[in-house]
Amino acid sequence: MRVAVVGAGLAGAALAWRLTRRGAQVEIFAPRGPYGQDATNASGGLVRGFEPDPLDARRAAWSLAELRADPVLRAWAGYRELPSVYALPPDADPGAAQRAVDAVDEVIPGSARLRQITGPAELPALPGLAVGTLAVQERYAGYISPGRLRSALLAAALAGGARLLPEPVTGVDPAPAVRVAGGAEHRCDALVVATGPWTPPLLARWGLPGQGLRTRQIQYTLGRAEPPGLGAFVDDSSGLYGRVVGAGLLLLGLPTRHWQVVPGGIAVDTALAREVVVRAGERLGLADWPGAHARTVASADCYAGEGGLRLRRLLPDTAVHTFTGGSGGAAKTVLTAAHDAAAELCPRAAHGTRA
Ligand SMILES: Cc1cc2nc3c(=O)[nH]c(=O)nc-3n(C[C@H](O)[C@H](O)[C@H](O)COP(=O)(O)OP(=O)(O)OC[C@H]3O[C@@H](n4cnc5c(N)ncnc54)[C@H](O)[C@@H]3O)c2cc1C
Repeated sequence: MRVAVVGAGLAGAALAWRLTRRGAQVEIFAPRGPYGQDATNASGGLVRGFEPDPLDARRAAWSLAELRADPVLRAWAGYRELPSVYALPPDADPGAAQRAVDAVDEVIPGSARLRQITGPAELPALPGLAVGTLAVQERYAGYISPGRLRSALLAAALAGGARLLPEPVTGVDPAPAVRVAGGAEHRCDALVVATGPWTPPLLARWGLPGQGLRTRQIQYTLGRAEPPGLGAFVDDSSGLYGRVVGAGLLLLGLPTRHWQVVPGGIAVDTALAREVVVRAGERLGLADWPGAHARTVASADCYAGEGGLRLRRLLPDTAVHTFTGGSGGAAKTVLTAAHDAAAELCPRAAHGTRA
């Protein structure tokens, strides 16, 4: 089975690695040189099991469980454990939240628990949470270096027989075939476009269905602070999220309102960066974050209407797909998503291979 994977971000690299382990012949098309600020290099790398949607939670929990259980993957990803708190919005449905916690618990027993905040002393690192807020605490969560994991997965895929073609793809053909600069065509049995935030503009340029995928800016600021007891957190009532980074640094961000941005050339939204400073004061009680030498990172990811990162058939009755839609969270789910996508593309692992 010959599979062409277009793009070598975390999604493309993980898929290529899974496919080579199933015995597929994989060609990876990725422009030569540094990847720049693609989503993978810019990513905050926070990984946890809990997501408000129980299906997403199950996929994130399986990914995290595989990562924690495998010393090789842990080293490749530079995994560090950090407890996580997810504070739900005031209108959250406690039943749905409990179902998502149960989904995590099935996979990583004893890690996640749902509680209602009864006073500020309960979670002193998050003093701005209102009494009555539902919060999910996870003992086994943490962060990875998505860029490092991508490089290791790519190297493992190449060691497993995959070929890297250092050319940007200029078109795809339902045959299926990949077209590269200069017009050369590479035929294959299945083709997967895994170009992250570049996917929506590429599909539009190639006259292919957009699948409801959209590119959205993501940005966060790194500044100086190390609040005691704070690990990783999401506060859905204010939108603020973040984690301690180590070396006295704290990463904080808010969701952006910028959709359909052009990846590769994204400007920092300075008004949003200022809003993050205000929220840091209100929600975390930080008066002097980010301090001198603060740095704001602005990049983008591909958002899907639903389902996050997964394989989506692009054209009916053809073997042309996308594998994107990380929606700002695919570092959490990529191992499971790539496993499922590889199994769908290549259902029968070749004899003697480890899927
Ligand atoms: C700022 C930021 C913070 C994030 N933080 C977190 C987090 O804390 N936790 C979490 O779980 N997730 C996080 N994410 C999300 C996660 O990192 C992404 O979902 C994931 O990295 C997406 O990987 P990808 O391979 O789909 O895209 P990318 O990493 O963008 O890779 C796409 C690749 O396609 C290549 N490409 C483009 N055009 C072509 C072409 N024509 N031919 C060939 N190749 C092409 C590009 O060079 C690029 O390398 C964050 C994302 C961002 C942007």
